Amino acid sequence: MKYISTRGTAPVLGFEDAMLTGLARDGGLYVPERIPTMAPGDIAALAGLSYEETAFRVMRPFIGDTFSDAEFRAIIDRAYSGFAHAARAPLVQLAPNHFLLELFHGPTLAFKDFAMQLIGQMFETALSRRGERVTIVGATSGDTGSAAIEAFRGLDAVDVFILYPHGRISEVQRRQMTTPSEANVHALAVDGDFDDCQARVKDMFNDFEFRDGVRLAGVNSINWARVLAQVVYYFSSAVSLGAPARAVSFTVPTGNFGDVFAGYIAKRMGLPVGRLMVATNQNDILHRCLSGHGYHKGETLPSISPSMDIQVSSNFERALFDAYDREGAAVAQLMAELARGGFDVSQGAMQALAEHYGSGRVSEDETRATIAATLTGAGELLCPHSAVGVRVAEDTRDSATPMITLATAHPAKFPAAVEAASGVHPPLPPHMSDLYDRSERVTRIANDLETLKAHIRGHIVH
Ligand SMILES: *Cc1c(COP(=O)(O)O)cnc(C)c1O
Repeated sequence: MKYISTRGTAPVLGFEDAMLTGLARDGGLYVPERIPTMAPGDIAALAGLSYEETAFRVMRPFIGDTFSDAEFRAIIDRAYSGFAHAARAPLVQLAPNHFLLELFHGPTLAFKDFAMQLIGQMFETALSRRGERVTIVGATSGDTGSAAIEAFRGLDAVDVFILYPHGRISEVQRRQMTTPSEANVHALAVDGDFDDCQARVKDMFNDFEFRDGVRLAGVNSINWARVLAQVVYYFSSAVSLGAPARAVSFTVPTGNFGDVFAGYIAKRMGLPVGRLMVATNQNDILHRCLSGHGYHKGETLPSISPSMDIQVSSNFERALFDAYDREGAAVAQLMAELARGGFDVSQGAMQALAEHYGSGRVSEDETRATIAATLTGAGELLCPHSAVGVRVAEDTRDSATPMITLATAHPAKFPAAVEAASGVHPPLPPHMSDLYDRSERVTRIANDLETLKAHIRGHIVH
């Protein structure tokens, strides 16, 4: 299995190198050269299997010879052993033909644990075999960073530096990043917004001297291995509702487009998927784009669903790559235009996107109203991100196709917003109940490339 860059000029890599590299050297994102498919009989055979066995069967064709079957099974088992629910990704019903996929039973209470816990185990196995160490640098709007720190804390082969926008993430998110005491984890509070953090990480990756000097590796949602891990729960949930005999649709609270792109990969692998609905908050660049208004950056507005507060959605480049018939040069041209503010999408590419994706935008008031209404109507307390999804699903779903809305975080991760909307204070699960008592360790730092590089060079453990 070979991986190619969306901009067409970076070296072609196998799974292991694509995973350890993250961003391609031409600034693009790695995608599989071709997407393996699963026959309907193989999809049907997933019914009733454990999440781990489903994960093995869905992901196995993508990893080539990076891990033996026994090694890969052990990696998957370790990755999900810390989840608090035996089903890992349970489905609950909200209304006739509308289901909620609970992706928040991992150690940091958000869906990013599905990918990050797996990546942690894959990195550790691959690097210890090579006798190498890497420095992981990532930007987070809240949940990626805590998931990464949780997945890599205490591992021998890795230092982790996480940049987050100072003052713009929830207290639970911050504490999850600043309370681990292991010497190899470093939380950096940047004076800027999430797009600044993401841009500085990109700058570091494009600075080859620094990149090679500290052996930089990326685990942001651009990392192909993260997308791959997320493909699994599209299969497990659809099969439990009758796929492949029956098609299902999904609504995905979206920021960087990694989660919904995993749904597209599941569809391309052969899972019968009706629509993939991209649900955005008031930071609606994706909704505007998918509605035919081009991809033009605006200002990032803080919201009660902060993990979706972004304007430049990094994984959207992968969708554009396919929509532009896998022409790397065309994607490189679009990204150059984006650096100057934005671009319009060609008619052919718009048609290609519309074949798979729909979209909706949810205001802050609508988000709060949906949290309250879902508690009253279905007895479910939603986090604000999941509420954005539920609202778009309710507004757009048809009665014939089952709709699965992804619940991307636990309500206790956003207690202030949830309580303001519903009147109910969501308690932390027992294993995290002392989070507010633990001491914090964080460095506040300027939104400046040279300052960040110097800090990282000076704080690598080995
Ligand atoms: C990261 C995140 C999202 C957005 O997911 P993308 O893959 O970036 O589109 C939505 N909700 C929550 C809670 C998240 O942490």
